[in-house]
Amino acid sequence: MPLTVELKTPLTGPYKQPTGLFINNEFVEGVDKKTFETINPTTEEAICSVHEATEKDVDIAVAAARKAFNGPWKTISPQQRGIYLTRLADIVEKNSDLLSAVESLDNGKSISMARGDVSSVVGCIRYYGGWADKITGSTVETVPDHFNYTRYEPIGVCGQIIPWNFPLLMLAWKISPALATGNTVVLKTAEQTPLSALVFAQFVKEAGFPPGVVNIISGFGKVAGAAIASHMDIDKVAFTGSTLVGRSIMKAAASSNLKKVTLELGGKSPNIVFKDADIEQAISWVNFGIYYNHGQCCCAGSRIYVQEEIYDKFIETFRKRAAANAVGDPFDEKTFQGPQVSQLQYDRIMGYIEEGKKDGAKIEVGGSRHGDKGYFIQPTIFSGVTPDMKIMKEEIFGPVCAIAKFKTEEEVIELANDTTYGLAAAVHTNDLNTAIRVSNTLKAGTVWVNCYNMIHHQLPFGGYKESGIGRELGEEALANYTQHKSVSIRLGGPIF
Ligand code: ADP
Repeated sequence: MPLTVELKTPLTGPYKQPTGLFINNEFVEGVDKKTFETINPTTEEAICSVHEATEKDVDIAVAAARKAFNGPWKTISPQQRGIYLTRLADIVEKNSDLLSAVESLDNGKSISMARGDVSSVVGCIRYYGGWADKITGSTVETVPDHFNYTRYEPIGVCGQIIPWNFPLLMLAWKISPALATGNTVVLKTAEQTPLSALVFAQFVKEAGFPPGVVNIISGFGKVAGAAIASHMDIDKVAFTGSTLVGRSIMKAAASSNLKKVTLELGGKSPNIVFKDADIEQAISWVNFGIYYNHGQCCCAGSRIYVQEEIYDKFIETFRKRAAANAVGDPFDEKTFQGPQVSQLQYDRIMGYIEEGKKDGAKIEVGGSRHGDKGYFIQPTIFSGVTPDMKIMKEEIFGPVCAIAKFKTEEEVIELANDTTYGLAAAVHTNDLNTAIRVSNTLKAGTVWVNCYNMIHHQLPFGGYKESGIGRELGEEALANYTQHKSVSIRLGGPIF
């Protein structure tokens, strides 16, 4: 099968789509010459096939990353690493239209959201480009005859496994801090969405990164993903995806070489609306909180708690708002919600909708398929949802939310924290005291006040409880990609 195919998108016209595994700055076939199809979720038809990595290809990519880590990459100054990253950000920015269009084609996300993603990708890479030459240790006073300092050293070869909901953005969150701190990477994209990362890979080479520093492979979780998690020559694995797979990654790391692990997993995030909130504003944010990216966000605000005094009015207005969300062709500029990513996700979500109906929750809006082609689901609201219902407890990862009423602040804090997850939460109120008191009590890695899904690459992002380990973004992410070394020098004097 060729290493490039000609594709077209409604916005860009024809373009050259790489299909190979990107190893050592070249696109190559897999050793076993396997390929798999990627499906357009809008039409349910195959877009093209890409080359599939198996364990043998993971070995080759890891060897390339190791060679680069021990060789050219080690001799390059931190400032130069920053220059490569900044250059990469510039090239990505110049090619934003193509990257956004490919993202919409392969993932189904609306073009406006895909553009937002690419703009965040540029910001994230640039931000970490700025960090590259600002990673400094410290000197530490202990006893008078010792001089001590700390150093932050790269960990080595990093395996990175990303999901399909933000293919380019997750790639940027993963590779940027890893490269800024001097690591090399082998990144596996999700099997549902391999295309945009392969377009991006060309820009890595163009930016001047030496061969082997960034390797990007397409493949399946149980084969290439599992091979990364259990590889004996990968020093760290970073994963974003389901909690179930996160556990298996951690087990594989533990039973292989105890590689360092960071995980960004699922969520069932509470979105709390107090009676003194600006209700129109709150509804806009609640709507964005659950339906952004078609509900396919680990931090989606899927549990909505509304104070009883405003409950009826809230439901009435929110119902109209959700029903007005434009669902349809992702390439239509007016579209807010495109199709779900795959048949499997579509079936899972529809299964949850059926569970909600069976459990006796009330459908306020939606609850069915949208149209008759593509994996489209109507924005769906369930009201009167009780804590024991599956739709209140489990991550649905689709355009479905569960609403419940609360009386007091104490009660809603208890409800909000009654979950095994802890990725995000939000509070809507005009009372600063309530906002701060509740934010400080919620067990979540991110709390939004009077907004939702506002992710800034300068701020750490990650989960409490079973939502993850470690933090991405911000200065904190640098710690995930460095080893901290203490050097203690004895300055002479008597030996004990
Ligand atoms: P989803 O269920 O939403 O597809 P997953 O957690 O299954 O999310 O997938 C996220 C990423 O993890 C994908 O790149 C996928 O290929 C990968 N993956 C799935 N299973 C495994 C596994 N057992 N080991 C390593 N990676 C895996």
